Amino acid sequence: MPDSIERCLESAAPPFCFGQILIRKTNAGHFILIHRDDEPQKNLEIFQNPDDAIEIAKYDDAGNYRPLKTAPNLRHGWRLELADLEELRRALDYFYPGRLAVFAAWKGGELKTTPLRGTLDRQSGMYRVAAKISDAQINDLVANFCRSNGGCLRTILWKRDRGGGIASTKLPKEKFDPGIDQIQALERPESPPPATTPVAATIPLLCQEACNLLIAECRKVVKGK
Ligand code: SF4
Repeated sequence: MPDSIERCLESAAPPFCFGQILIRKTNAGHFILIHRDDEPQKNLEIFQNPDDAIEIAKYDDAGNYRPLKTAPNLRHGWRLELADLEELRRALDYFYPGRLAVFAAWKGGELKTTPLRGTLDRQSGMYRVAAKISDAQINDLVANFCRSNGGCLRTILWKRDRGGGIASTKLPKEKFDPGIDQIQALERPESPPPATTPVAATIPLLCQEACNLLIAECRKVVKGK
């Protein structure tokens, strides 16, 4: 019996996008994955093992390591051919670790989010000092570090604090809306959600809690680095 993640993938009905990946299904029931920007391109390096996603996701186009897998710098030039839904699930989890499970929990109404101040308060050791960051500093830092344009493609679901303060007033409202494709939103700055039909549906990359990289940045701000 398929679990909640496979049910989400089945109901996504290819073609659909997941972050910077476009997923298509062949008549034979196989899956083809490519970088969204590569769609018209024919000359792609072909891979056929879901484990290949680990290497594809590791470095950007310039060969730099990608510490944040949801950063908008997935490399181009590859085509991953997968046999079935189980292989698709594995590969997508390598590209965007944990994001399918979070999406399935959100779809099922079971996703819990953690305010940034809650995440900061439970830090220990060298990261304990990060909790001293001010609200104004958080506002600026999140706007810069989490922005979809060059930062991270996740949709922010967490609040700044238990009072429900917004993570950053400097980010567009689309950054907090799971119904908006973050890449398409970038192509339409300052405009309402797209009036035209998108090329493909999108499974959003959701952020339910601040990541370690953002916490490290909070510490740098407090330390004045
Ligand atoms: S906190 Fe979330 S949205 Fe911000 S960079 Fe980390 S993963 Fe991305």
